[in-house]
Amino acid sequence: MTYRTVRLNPGSTKEPRSSVLVIYTGGTFGMVYDPKANQLIPFDFEQVLDRVPELNRLDFAITILTLHEIIDSSNMKPAVWVELAQLIESNYPLYDSFVILHGTDTMSYTASALSFMLDGLNKPVLLTGAQLPIGIARTDARENFITALEIAAAQEDGKPIVSEVCVYFNSLLLRGNRSTKHESVQFNAFASENYPPLATAGVSIDYNRPYIRPYQPNSILHIRTSLDSRVTILKLFPGITQSVVESIISIPNLRGVVMETFGAGNAPTDRWFLYTLKAAIDRGVLIINVSQCEGGRVTQGRYQTSKMLQQIGVISGADITTEAAITKLMFLLGQETNLANIRQLLAQPLSGEMSE
Ligand code: ASP
Repeated sequence: MTYRTVRLNPGSTKEPRSSVLVIYTGGTFGMVYDPKANQLIPFDFEQVLDRVPELNRLDFAITILTLHEIIDSSNMKPAVWVELAQLIESNYPLYDSFVILHGTDTMSYTASALSFMLDGLNKPVLLTGAQLPIGIARTDARENFITALEIAAAQEDGKPIVSEVCVYFNSLLLRGNRSTKHESVQFNAFASENYPPLATAGVSIDYNRPYIRPYQPNSILHIRTSLDSRVTILKLFPGITQSVVESIISIPNLRGVVMETFGAGNAPTDRWFLYTLKAAIDRGVLIINVSQCEGGRVTQGRYQTSKMLQQIGVISGADITTEAAITKLMFLLGQETNLANIRQLLAQPLSGEMSE
């Protein structure tokens, strides 16, 4: 499949110091106002220098590749994650880093999925986007794009400073599988309550080095593209009925459930509730306990209301986000067949998505 690409070698006559592949998937970022149609339409990256003339001042080579189908990220699907992983793999020897322009709505899901799929990654993969389209004067697209490019191209002693999957947004570089979209109106769309930012971009870009995954000089990229979508999210609320829980848990062929519990991982202790979960666990459905709180962690056994979950075999998700938990479940179910192994891998960090 050939993709539409635009190559920029901004401003410099010298050999560029680094090369970045930008993959444009869609989202608010690339929208411009079309006065004829009186609506926002995706903009053509052929004209990127008109929209972002600052790109001319960067001293590295930028190639922008546009996916065949530009989507609002609410339409994101595992098939696109596979396409992104394959694009990164096939271009891996050609570029020093990768920036993915993505809608904000599901950016944390994509970042989480890629963090598991890009095994052996030792180059930066940064996702960014915007809350306001690039065609609007007050847009945040320009700053997000340019700083994401700067961070992607940043090297020290010939090695990238950051070599993991991240989200860059509104001055913060976050570990991708720790990020959550927590704001839909203000520019600070993303937060990472349980892991510090990897960098903060102000007058200078300050890297939070102890928290950045160390560069792995000898690792080789292997993409893992088998994902199993037979999973679901069960969000608890006071008053949830037996028929709701039973209908979700008895979905045909269901293999995994992210159960969003209260506080430190607590859930009702009604007999029917625990019985329904236990029956599912006994027939091989994996249930992972993730808190509805953005910050803090699940500690099964701290309260009586979570001790029972522990006893029936619900897996603690510790301080994982829902986005990372559901994509990790899809990933592990797609990769592994042995249930005991999957249970064990779910309970431990695979790619920095949870604390020990
Ligand atoms: N609905 C858009 C998307 O996620 C929102 C955005 O990009 O900010 O694609």
